[in-house]
Amino acid sequence: MKFLVVKKRVLSAVLLCVILICSVVGVCYAVQAEASPKPLRTIVIDAGHGGRDGGAVGKASGITENELNLQYAETIKTICEGLGMRVVMTRSDLSGLYSPVADNKKRSDMEARQKIIEESGADVVLSVHMNAFPLTSSRGAQVFFDSKNQGGKELAQSIQTSLHDSIAYAKSSASDGDLYILNCTQIPGALVEFGFLSNLEEEELLLDESYRQDICYAVVCGILDYFRL
Ligand SMILES: [Zn+2]
Repeated sequence: MKFLVVKKRVLSAVLLCVILICSVVGVCYAVQAEASPKPLRTIVIDAGHGGRDGGAVGKASGITENELNLQYAETIKTICEGLGMRVVMTRSDLSGLYSPVADNKKRSDMEARQKIIEESGADVVLSVHMNAFPLTSSRGAQVFFDSKNQGGKELAQSIQTSLHDSIAYAKSSASDGDLYILNCTQIPGALVEFGFLSNLEEEELLLDESYRQDICYAVVCGILDYFRL
């Protein structure tokens, strides 16, 4: 009988321990769930052009801006996600966003991008493009903003400064541009022209993977500076 009482006490003690451990573990899980990471920031990355709109074309390689923009957008996405940001892409393949039955495909494409931006809840928008100009000596990365959007202006200048500090030929000042992708939303945005496909040397650089990594890192550094992170 005494043995049974002792056994019962031991069992009660064990049970109490199990309950205590479970509740501590439960609390830990709850704390973990609560502390579980809100993304650092949300960014929309917009690879310009797509589908029947190939954009600028590489003078020597014949590569389309559509294709190159997507590569750059994906590189920036990887860097941003590695930093804990939430990324929303306007497109993830070579197709355009326009409706196949739309009369005005460009307008349809831009409106689809606007819808993604407005529904994203993003902190910033980054539109990715490559430049081209008849004067083939023109080169250098250039960032554009919408002058009515103060946040966008600061973001663009921050990216431009970061590019200027680390990439040859990048301009020193961001420029005002009347661009639908920036005008269509109140969210601060910047459009980066990464370089000129009409300049042979720059085209070669733009096609080089390590240059792409470097210039994309510089852009993300500019975004982090804007966030003061
Ligand atoms: Zn473009």
